[in-house]
Amino acid sequence: MKDLSIQLQQLRAQNLYRSRRVLTGPQGAEVAIDGHRYLAFCSNDYLGLANHPELIRALQTAAGRYGVGSGAAHLVNGHSHEHHALEEELAEFTDRPRALLFSTGYMANLGVVAALLERGDTVYEDRLNHASLLDGGLLSGARLRRYVHADAQALAQRLVGREGGEALIATDGVFSMDGDLAPLPALAAIAREHGAWLMVDDAHGFGVIGREGKGSLDHYGLGLAEAPVVIGTLGKAFGVAGAFVAGGEELIETLIQKARTYIFTTAAPPALAAATRVSLRLARQEEWRREKLRALVRRFRAGAGQLGLSLLESWTPIQPLLVGDSGRAVALSEALRERGILIGAIRPPTVPVGTARLRITFSAAHSEQQVDRLLDALASVLARPLPTDSL
Ligand SMILES: *Cc1c(COP(=O)(O)O)cnc(C)c1O
Repeated sequence: MKDLSIQLQQLRAQNLYRSRRVLTGPQGAEVAIDGHRYLAFCSNDYLGLANHPELIRALQTAAGRYGVGSGAAHLVNGHSHEHHALEEELAEFTDRPRALLFSTGYMANLGVVAALLERGDTVYEDRLNHASLLDGGLLSGARLRRYVHADAQALAQRLVGREGGEALIATDGVFSMDGDLAPLPALAAIAREHGAWLMVDDAHGFGVIGREGKGSLDHYGLGLAEAPVVIGTLGKAFGVAGAFVAGGEELIETLIQKARTYIFTTAAPPALAAATRVSLRLARQEEWRREKLRALVRRFRAGAGQLGLSLLESWTPIQPLLVGDSGRAVALSEALRERGILIGAIRPPTVPVGTARLRITFSAAHSEQQVDRLLDALASVLARPLPTDSL
C-alpha cells in the first residue's frame, strides 16, 4: 500500500494542493463563505440563472408533483415527462432532430466517445480539450492523437494517411480555461474530407454566444451535416446541472442502446429537468443577459489593457490572466481573497505546466461597479511584491 501522505506532501510542495471552500448561500455575484461575503469571479453561472426565482419556483413545484428522486435509470423506470419534454426542447434549441439527457457533462463525454469508438479506431483531440473528452478517448480503447491547440493545419497533418477504422475529431467549442473558440469551420472541412465524425463540446458556448445563445456552432453557421455530435452542459450558463447530446435520430438511438454512462446510472431528479426547461426559455429569450455580459467583458478588457495585464485572446466571459508559476497564481488568488474577491488559481493538470492562471469569469449578475472593483484589486495586488516573487 503506498504512503498517501508523501504524495499529498509533494502536491503541497509544488503548490498543486487543492482544497474546497464551503459556501453557505446561493451562487451569485457575491457568495457567502465562513460568514464573510466575497465578490466572486470564478463561477460558470454566466447568465446569472443559478439562483433565479423562476427556476426555484419550477423546481419546488415539480418536486411537489414528482417528489425528489427519479427512482431509477432512464431505461428502467426513471424517464419522466419533464425529462422527455426537456429533450424535445433541447433538440429544437440546437436545430438537431434529437437530444438525449445525461446526468453530467463528464458522463456525456465518456459515454459518447466510448459508444462511437472502439479499439482500432482513432480519436483526434485538441491539446486543451476538457479532461472528460480525453478520458472518453482513453476509455474507448481507440488510438488517441492530440493536436496543437486550435490548429486545424496540425490536425490535417495528423489525418494524412490515417490508420484504418473510424475517426472522430473531438473539440471544446469554447475552451474552458482559455475562453477562445475552436476553428470549427476548418475542423468541419477536415472532418468531411477524411470521413471523420466531428464532436463539439460546447459547455461554455451554449447560452453565451450565437443567436438565442445557440452556441459556437450557431455562431459559425454549422449544422447537423458539419457537426453531427454536439454536447452541451446544463450546469454552466443554464445554471442547473446535467448535460445533453444533440444529433441525428440514429446517433441518439445508438447512445440509448450503447452509452454505458447513460444506461447504468440513475436519472437526474425530474424537478431538475423542470427547472432546466424554465432556464432554457429564459436563456433564449433574455438577450439582455448576453448583451450585459459582452459589455462587462469589454469594460474589463479595456481596464486590464490600461493596467498592462497579460490577458489571452478571448471575447467570451472566460478571461484568464496568465501567471505561469503555480505558487504565484496561488499567492495572487490569496491576496485577492484578502481584498474580498474570489478568483481561483487554475494550475496543472487542469492547464499545461507553466501556464497557471487566474481564471476570471463574468456573469450577467455582475455590475459595472463590481468589474471596476476587480480592476482596482488587481492593480493593487499586482503592484505589491508577492511571497513567491523572490523565487
Ligand atoms: C464543465 C465541462 C464539462 C463537464 O460538465 P459537467 O456537467 O460539469 O460534468 C465537460 N466539458 C467541458 C468543456 C466543460 O467545461
